[in-house]
Formats: sequence, C-alpha cells, structure tokens
Amino acid sequence: MSDGHLHSFQEQVNDLLLRHRSFLDVTSKYQESSSRVNRALTKAVTECGCIKIKADKQSYPKDAPREEWKDYFKTHLSGQLCDHCQDIVKTEMGKNLFYLTALCNLLQISLTDVIQQESNHLSTLGVFNLR
Ligand SMILES: [Zn+2]
Repeated sequence: MSDGHLHSFQEQVNDLLLRHRSFLDVTSKYQESSSRVNRALTKAVTECGCIKIKADKQSYPKDAPREEWKDYFKTHLSGQLCDHCQDIVKTEMGKNLFYLTALCNLLQISLTDVIQQESNHLSTLGVFNLR
C-alpha cells in the first residue's frame, strides 16, 4: 500500500467517523477492537481448531550469535488460519486499524508518518531489535 493509499484511507476514516468523534469514544473503541482481534484468534484455537498453541520457555544456545537468536525462538503457533477464521481476524484487524486511524485524525498525526517513523526506527535497530 502506497503513501497515497494510506492518506486516502485516513481521509475516508475522517469522513465516516461521525458517531464516535469523542476522544474517549475513539480510545475506548480502539481498545475494544484490539480485544476483538485477540478474541477472534482465541476462537480460532478453541472453537475452530485451525491453529494450535503449544508454548514453553524460549531458549537458545548461549553461545549463539545474536543475529541467529530468531532462528531459535518459536512462535508457539502451529497450523494455519482457515479461510473462515482468517476472514474474521482480518475484519477485526480492519476495525482496529480504523480506530487507530481515527485516533491519528483526532491528534492530527499522519498514519503514513507513524508507519514511516516506525520503519526508520526498525531500520536503525536492525538485527538488535528485540521486540
Ligand atoms: Zn479456523
């Protein structure tokens, strides 16, 4: 998606956000939509079963070079979202993105700038980014 697409998405959100223009409504809807993403993922595990979680302590050889650590860290996830679950997850992620964008609008922050700034930050951190 180009900068132009992000900018027009941000304008689209601005045009559509009539009912929840309050900062409090937007921040609470943003938080709620984030929970709904997590809920959709949980249901993919517990109700559908297309993905499974098998978690244990992350470990890596202490003598492994730092740039190889990611090869040892597990996602704790197996399987793949089925079409149905993926559709729901994408819908919830879209709503979450909508409210993040609405928050950007209220604070007069460009969504493109947020992504660009984060990308620059990641580039600077490079392999030592431990998020
Ligand atoms: Zn599924």
